[in-house]
Amino acid sequence: MKNPKKLIIITGPSGVGKGTVVKAILKKDINIWLSISATTRKPRKGEEDGKDYYFLTTKKFKEMINNEMFLEWAEFAGNYYGTPINKINEKIKYGSKVILEIEVEGACQVREKFPETIAIFLLPPNKQELEKRIRNRGTDNEESILQRLERADFEMSSSKDFDYVLKNYEIDKTADEILEIIT
Ligand code: 5GP
Repeated sequence: MKNPKKLIIITGPSGVGKGTVVKAILKKDINIWLSISATTRKPRKGEEDGKDYYFLTTKKFKEMINNEMFLEWAEFAGNYYGTPINKINEKIKYGSKVILEIEVEGACQVREKFPETIAIFLLPPNKQELEKRIRNRGTDNEESILQRLERADFEMSSSKDFDYVLKNYEIDKTADEILEIIT
């Protein structure tokens, strides 16, 4: 990687609002590019292949792991998720900053490879609020909700390992705080 300082990781438990905050950031700064991840999870209603994720079969995902095509990858709530490496170098080379919106294990992998990246951990106001957010978005079945909540305890206990820890009370305010950190 040419300039890992231009790589920004937004991590934190599922349901904390990473995706919404990142969308707000992209609206405010056009020179930031969001990496599109690959996953073996089935698309949710309204999600598009190549826009929200690259939706892959497990076989294809494992092929990509074997061919070292991921910057990082992790298993999360019964599915694989990974960051394809190909576009990132190109975007950084042409002057963009690149955001990775990923879960904690993948974030740690990137930090080990490139300690200069900026890693920001989002925390919910509290665990009850996290559960409320996951349930209210109505995208996951009960099994997946419970897996995500169980994982959240481990994830939140990892927040201390990151450069910046922000409580996500309000999307717009959190987006501004992140922009201040990265610009
Ligand atoms: P969801 O199924 O809700 O879209 O994503 C589940 C979790 O996987 C979220 O915490 C999300 O940030 C994370 N995730 C999405 N893409 C990636 C990726 O490329 N790598 C890793 N490690 N996690 C990802």
